[in-house]
Amino acid sequence: MKFATKAIHVGYDSSKHGHAVMPPIYQTSVFAHDTLDANQPFTYARTGTPTRAALEDNLAALENAAHGLAFGSGMAAIDAVMRAVLKPGDEVIAQQDVYGGAYRLLTKVMAPAGIKVHFVDLSDSRALAAHLNPAVKLLWLETPSNPLLNLVDIVALSAVARQNHTLVAVDNTFATPYLQNPLDQGADIVVHSATKYLAGHSDVLLGLVAVNDPELFQAIRFIQSASGGVPGPQDCFLCLRGIKTLALRMERHCDNAEKVAAWLSSQPGIERVFYPGLPEHPGHALAARQMKRFGGVVTVYLKEDSRAAAARVAERLQLFALAESLGGVESLVNHSASMSHGAMPAELKRQLGVREGQLRLSIGIEDIDDILADLAQALAE
Ligand SMILES: *Cc1c(COP(=O)(O)O)cnc(C)c1O
Repeated sequence: MKFATKAIHVGYDSSKHGHAVMPPIYQTSVFAHDTLDANQPFTYARTGTPTRAALEDNLAALENAAHGLAFGSGMAAIDAVMRAVLKPGDEVIAQQDVYGGAYRLLTKVMAPAGIKVHFVDLSDSRALAAHLNPAVKLLWLETPSNPLLNLVDIVALSAVARQNHTLVAVDNTFATPYLQNPLDQGADIVVHSATKYLAGHSDVLLGLVAVNDPELFQAIRFIQSASGGVPGPQDCFLCLRGIKTLALRMERHCDNAEKVAAWLSSQPGIERVFYPGLPEHPGHALAARQMKRFGGVVTVYLKEDSRAAAARVAERLQLFALAESLGGVESLVNHSASMSHGAMPAELKRQLGVREGQLRLSIGIEDIDDILADLAQALAE
């Protein structure tokens, strides 16, 4: 079955739900037992509900995985994976430009719990081997990364990690399973902030994990149930509904972002455009190999590198709301230096290339003419 068909059909059997065409929202905390020793699929909603199971099975299908797991947010999903895989004394290698929330979790929660954390520039895959040792149990990747859309090579890095018996997790939020399937490329774990493209309408917070290995699945499932960072049935329903149009939306996000990136490249007020689809992007060849298309996020350095210049453009934009987050149907603009990366030390921002005169655009699925017109009036002198 092809992707767009799986997105709509896999994970839900209407004959088991009164032939309701859409998965019902099982708004119940508890399921009654037939008999004392009945072995039934659902007992208490923290361990599972039919609505959540439909979402988990659907995500597994989209990632070509054996198992899916849903959480109350992307961060709850990341936390569960790290807890399931790491114990005190273990080490983890994360690429240096991981999502800010993952950086905070690693440095402020995992490190104090006795886990040694290394941040490494993995844009050259050969850099990994020098940092591996038998204690490194997890390699944490994110590609394309936020906000400068750097690429890392999942196939090459997974091959090196495997020789060290290091599990590889990929945060696939920016690409979505429509553009990239990390498990097919050698990774062991995929995580998503489904809050972004998967749910796709900026109306739900949700995290997803997909794995193949049954023991790994049981370990993460244990944390899911033991810690209880699970989504409610309404949120699972909204995410399932969003996923039904994921293929259509991603095509339009990519169409629009490609046009915006090309247009911005010719604007006098723009110093540099970051988009993996541009031939001059350092990760372009890798993106062409690893991804189906190049995604919906475009980041720019303004010619004037100041917060005032970024504020002027961001505040003039009418269609683009000034907001954190990305991946919704509507266009958003984010000032990384003060918003998503606001808590990051200035020195680290400089090292990662996060500038004051920088804006990250999440290109929505509005009409491209209106998007370009809005950008043109905001950038006008
Ligand atoms: C938003 C985001 C997260 C965190 O997800 P939440 O749903 O906000 O908890 C993790 N990784 C990436 C790449 C994100 O963009």
